[in-house]
Amino acid sequence: MTIVGGGITGQAAIDSYVATWVDLCLAIVNDLAIEVRQGRQVPADTGLADAFAHLAANPLTKDFEVSSADVDDLGSAARRLHIAIDTCIAGDLLTAAFALNTVLAEFGAVPNLHATPGGVPHLAFHGADAPIVDAWAAESATALAFLIGTRQTHRLGQCSADTCDAYYLDSTKNASRRFCSLACQNRAKSAAYRQKRRDQPE
Ligand SMILES: [Zn+2]
Repeated sequence: MTIVGGGITGQAAIDSYVATWVDLCLAIVNDLAIEVRQGRQVPADTGLADAFAHLAANPLTKDFEVSSADVDDLGSAARRLHIAIDTCIAGDLLTAAFALNTVLAEFGAVPNLHATPGGVPHLAFHGADAPIVDAWAAESATALAFLIGTRQTHRLGQCSADTCDAYYLDSTKNASRRFCSLACQNRAKSAAYRQKRRDQPE
């Protein structure tokens, strides 16, 4: 990273790193640590099956085999990442930092240049030989730590639709995002329309 004439080159790469891994963090938390999502309750026993299905469909995680022991470990990280996100949204950054520090330490987060002969080294925050769950937890916690360290936690939000506790990262320029997904946005729109019809009978 080089500072030039008031701008910082490499900023786009940092933004892209943070957005990518915060997205994974939110996928893990939304799949493993919340019980109400997109209009339905996710009971603990079917929640794991849903989590497998979602992780299998996520472009960042779909190519990895995940055992049920891995999902247990990931669930343990997810519960603390959940606390970190909730407290970030509430403005309690000290509690968020404490929760994140435990994940960073426990899952062995460490800056590491992944390099292969002939390739371009790329910066990661887990060892090249880390188990995949440790890598996901370490990168998730690091990306949230970047949001805190760069005063970007206002971009984290929780879905405004009824019966949905899912989190999102707002990438809009005017901070206008309110829903976790298009499905929730559409549900909220229909609910508002029905309510209006009830309030103004013809
Ligand atoms: Zn939602």
